[in-house]
Amino acid sequence: MNGVSNVADSVSSAAKETTGDVKRFKYFNETGRDLFAGGFTTSHGGNISVSDGESIWISKTGAMLGRISPGDVRKVFMSPTDLDAQASMELVVHRAMYQAWADRCRELDVAFGEKSIIHAHSKYTTYRSLVAEDVIPPDSEGKMTLGESVPVIAVELGVASEEVAEKMAALVADGGFIGIVRGHGPFAMADTPEEAFRLISCLEYSSELLTLFDMTGKQPL
Ligand SMILES: [Zn+2]
Repeated sequence: MNGVSNVADSVSSAAKETTGDVKRFKYFNETGRDLFAGGFTTSHGGNISVSDGESIWISKTGAMLGRISPGDVRKVFMSPTDLDAQASMELVVHRAMYQAWADRCRELDVAFGEKSIIHAHSKYTTYRSLVAEDVIPPDSEGKMTLGESVPVIAVELGVASEEVAEKMAALVADGGFIGIVRGHGPFAMADTPEEAFRLISCLEYSSELLTLFDMTGKQPL
């Protein structure tokens, strides 16, 4: 009977794994499509990940977010392995942010839960990062969602960079959840891809409003 029970257990765990894979693919596919269709990233730019604190599922290197297929979602781990070669080049930043969150959870004695990170190449956000030290949302939704300000992270090398990884990890360690790499684009962390997308979307909206003020020479009353 033990054999039957073992088989039942492994079928049940394979079924759970499959259900998780299907759910994650749906997250990646829908969020990726919305990021691209909404103009939040270029054709091959940006990346998405989710983590449960042990594994990280991340879009494949070079994947087009608007056309994510099941093979574009790669599973890697919190520590580097050979599997990393297939993952997005920005895995180094995603992993550092998840590790910072895991450290924070240990300090606060809370569960890691599930987290998601989105990195985008949103136009107005990237523009603001080149001309300002932070984005201060002028609109009510931006203030409510993003807080008082979103910092710009200035680095020597902005792509697949250890320096960005260290600075974004420090931001998460301090309780932050969103930052903009100067001249490159934002990284946002939340409980789900949808929530991370909301942060990216609100930041872009606030950045566009600030740019409109600059272009018209007007200021908020
Ligand atoms: Zn990028």
